[in-house]
Amino acid sequence: MSLLLGACSGAPPTAASSDRAVSDASLGSSAAPRTAASGESPNPTPNAAAKRARPAVDCKKLKCIALTYDDGPSPRTTPKLIKILKKHKAKATFFQLGQLARRYPKLVRKIHQIGSEVANHSWDHDSLDRKSVKGAYQDLKRASAAIEKSCRCRVRLMRPPYGATDKGVDKAAKKLGVAEILWDIDTLDWSSRNPSKIKRKVLRGAGRNRIVLMHDIHRTTIAAQADIIKGLKKRGYTLVTVSELLGKPKPGKRYPKSWR
Ligand code: ZN
Repeated sequence: MSLLLGACSGAPPTAASSDRAVSDASLGSSAAPRTAASGESPNPTPNAAAKRARPAVDCKKLKCIALTYDDGPSPRTTPKLIKILKKHKAKATFFQLGQLARRYPKLVRKIHQIGSEVANHSWDHDSLDRKSVKGAYQDLKRASAAIEKSCRCRVRLMRPPYGATDKGVDKAAKKLGVAEILWDIDTLDWSSRNPSKIKRKVLRGAGRNRIVLMHDIHRTTIAAQADIIKGLKKRGYTLVTVSELLGKPKPGKRYPKSWR
């Protein structure tokens, strides 16, 4: 699987001092229990409901693309990305580490609140294919529990660290009820650390219904995002979450199809 190694930036980021950088006044007292059945938490106020109501996206008609960000959330970089997505009314998917989602719950919640999707990237970036099925399942379950507690939403997707997957990982994902999401475009952002190169990789690789792999823990990746979003929109793309792109992906199945 040498092709797949290095696809992620390896060890999870070290925890920065605090998540004070995140200002989210809307959290506070308006905590609401999550509704498991719908995958959405109840809206705390009518205003919030109106703000979050969006027309359904039909990627059979629209030219969709899904930006994805792995290995966060990070208080150093993720808040800036949230602002950029919000400003450009773009949606994306964040594959997060369970241990970081537990440490920075407000960031996870905020991502969900702007209409982006939060998903599972394991507890602490271990290679799941080196674990037993039971071990991989327990790792993913622990991560999903932490992420769901933070976002007050349902997690329906996972991405195996390093893209390292096998039949055992498929089984673990199926048991947990999450689809396995890999990618079409690997920006190698963790390696180049060069905003121009990252932007070029995305815009040259862009295609309808493609999934783009990036990491929201690198400042250089964040620095490229406004231009990437503007460039994609200029080319007619609608930026959607992975769940919007795929419709209803099946638990335990790998997407895109090229990974099967
Ligand atoms: Zn990763």
